[in-house]
Amino acid sequence: MLMNKPEPRIIIAVDGFSSCGKSTMAKALARNIGYIYIDSGAMYRAVTLYCLDHGLIDGDTVDTDTLRSLMDDIQIDFRPDSETGMTHTFLNGIDVEREIRSMRVSDKVSPVSVIPFVRTAMVAAQQKMGERKGIVMDGRDIGTTVFPHAELKIFVTASAETRAQRRVDELRAKGVDVDFDEVVANINKRDHIDQTRKESPLRKADDAIELDNSHMTIAEQDAWLMTRYRETVDKLR
Ligand code: C5P
Repeated sequence: MLMNKPEPRIIIAVDGFSSCGKSTMAKALARNIGYIYIDSGAMYRAVTLYCLDHGLIDGDTVDTDTLRSLMDDIQIDFRPDSETGMTHTFLNGIDVEREIRSMRVSDKVSPVSVIPFVRTAMVAAQQKMGERKGIVMDGRDIGTTVFPHAELKIFVTASAETRAQRRVDELRAKGVDVDFDEVVANINKRDHIDQTRKESPLRKADDAIELDNSHMTIAEQDAWLMTRYRETVDKLR
C-alpha cells in the first residue's frame, strides 16, 4: 500500500510595510494550518515600551548605554489570553498587548529598532522560536535576515492611505480614538526609517513573492496566501 508522505513543516516569512495587513493574513494562515504565529514587530514594540517606562527615550534619542546594560532584564514572550485565546505579548510577565499598540509606542519604535544590539537580541530570539519550523513570522527582515532560508517568503505592500485607514479602523475598533493625518504621518515616517536604516533595512528578499493587497478583501488575501502555502509544500513533498 502506498503511504502518503507527511506534510513538510516549513518556515513562512511575511514581510512588508507597517499596517499593510501582514499580521492579519499571517495569523489566519497559522491558525488554519496549525502553525505558531509570531509578530516580530510586537517584540520591538515591547522593547520600546520598556525604554519609555524606564525614561530611556528623550525625543528620538535613546539612552543606548543604559539600555545595553539592561537588555538581559527584558524578557518578552507570547501567551494566549485566558478569556479570548488570542495571543498576547508579555513584557517581564505583564500583559502589554494593548499598550504596545498605542501611539506613544508607535511613535518611538523606529528609533529603538535601529539599534544594532536590540536587533541582534531580537533576531536571536526569533531564530530560536523557528528552530522546529512550523512557524509563520511577520515583520520587516524575516525573509532577509531572520530566516534567509525560509521555504516561503511573502512581501506585502499597499498604499500609505489604505494602510492608514486600516490602522485607524483597527485602533477605533479597540476604542482608541486617533487622528487620520497623525496616523498617515506616523506611517510615512516609519516607512522612511525602516527602509533607510543601515541595520536590516526593509527590502524585499530576492526570492520573496510580492503581494499588493490595496484592493483585496481579507478573505481574498487569506485565500491567496493559502494557495502559496499549498504550492510550496506540494513542491517539497
Ligand atoms: O509590525 P509593526 O508595525 O508592529 O512593527 C513596529 C515597528 O517595529 C516597525 O515600524 C519597525 O520599525 C520595527 N520592526 C523591525 N523589524 C521587524 C519588525 C518590526 O524593525 N522584524
